[in-house]
Amino acid sequence: MKKVKQTILNLSLKTKWILTVGATIFISYAIISIVLFIALQTWLLHNEEKNAMRTVDDITSFFESQSSAVTIQQLQNNTALMKAILNQEQTVRIFNFDGVEVIRINDVMHAAPLPQMTGDYFSPIIKQQKVETTDAFVVHKIVQIGPFQGMMQMIHPLTTFHAMLKYILTTIIIVGLGALLFSVSISYYLANFLIKPLVQLRDAMIDVRKRGFSAQPPFNYRADDEIGDLLTMYRSMMNELEISFTRQQQFVADASHELRTPIQVIEGHLSLIKRWGKDDPEVLAEALDTSLEEIVRMKKMIEELLQLARREEVDGHAIADVELVLKNVERELVQLYPNVQFEYDVIGQKELASITEQAAGQIFRNIISNGIRYNEQEPTIQLSIQYTKLAIIVTISDNGIGISEKHLPFIFDRFYRVDEARTNHIGGTGLGLSILKMLAEKYRIEINVKSSVDKGTSFILNFPLN
Ligand code: ADP
Repeated sequence: MKKVKQTILNLSLKTKWILTVGATIFISYAIISIVLFIALQTWLLHNEEKNAMRTVDDITSFFESQSSAVTIQQLQNNTALMKAILNQEQTVRIFNFDGVEVIRINDVMHAAPLPQMTGDYFSPIIKQQKVETTDAFVVHKIVQIGPFQGMMQMIHPLTTFHAMLKYILTTIIIVGLGALLFSVSISYYLANFLIKPLVQLRDAMIDVRKRGFSAQPPFNYRADDEIGDLLTMYRSMMNELEISFTRQQQFVADASHELRTPIQVIEGHLSLIKRWGKDDPEVLAEALDTSLEEIVRMKKMIEELLQLARREEVDGHAIADVELVLKNVERELVQLYPNVQFEYDVIGQKELASITEQAAGQIFRNIISNGIRYNEQEPTIQLSIQYTKLAIIVTISDNGIGISEKHLPFIFDRFYRVDEARTNHIGGTGLGLSILKMLAEKYRIEINVKSSVDKGTSFILNFPLN
């Protein structure tokens, strides 16, 4: 049983489909046909019985209508009238009580054995039985013909009934086979039509596994149904996967490239120490300082890379007071850069932003520390917080060196650093704004940047209110 189940499970989807449709139609048709056949058989048999009884009644009435002096001989000479009462297949015989046949009307069937006279045969008694090899209704009844009393035997053969049943059965089987053949061929075409895109999808997946994302065979299924949805979903998932795969490759390539530079610098300085540093304390001190600087930069880069790679789930219930977060960031940065000035401007009724305090802190810290570092004057950071009905708009402006128009579109790219003589000495990883962009996308924060060289840069952040 288990083996049969497994064999059925292992069949192709198309075969399973056709078998299911075929079996369902066959079983339904068989049940309907059996019920119909039994009902028809009962009805027809009942009709035959009624016919037989009617003939017996008619013959009895005929005998009763004869005068009381009528003799058997008279009736024997005139059977034509009685024949008209019977149909062609019925045979009636009258026996005396010694079992001798005295009258025979029609002679289609042989006589059936006479019953033992135990029952009350004054009213007709009908039985379905075989007469020689033919199935028939046999009716026995005591009749009075003038002074004569005897037993009437009427045989009503069921040949027409059986022929009719045979005919109905043949029709049912032929129609059933035709319907089965028709439904199986329809379901074969339907299965072919519906399973084709699934087969295409499977082949496409095999192709992608073998040849990578470049192998994207087109699907020619255009219907707007579940299969159409599945194909659209597959296409969009594949596109997303391809984008994220390419991004990851790019990320690994960029990261290894960026980490190679500080390692090379450290390697150079260590060789320098090995060759001359032991004897020259000045070279030793300088080489160690530079190496340490590079190590700190590498450490920061690794931390930031890990942060970018982690991509935690969005906390839907998070809330943050942006003013409070900004104050905390200010407190941290003032310790690192004591000469920085902060100016605040708050408009509107305070609202809470849907973001974790940690993420908001990271965003503000990255922007403000850039404003301080990329600055050749006493850094002043202007913070404007505007509460509207739909959003909290935070504008962070600095009086730094600014970003030229040609660089502005790329500052959020990973490892992108504006490579100009003025910024070269400022240690950075080019990841700070990428982290900012990742967080902004996560919490649906809109960012706009305005900058003019030598005047300063403004980051406008739009925190949507739910
Ligand atoms: P980094 O670690 O190099 O600061 P970021 O991703 O934070 O990396 O910034 C990318 C680049 O954008 C920086 O290298 C810098 O050239 C430029 N930049 C960012 N913010 C400012 C700013 N406020 N003023 C001038 N230049 C900026």
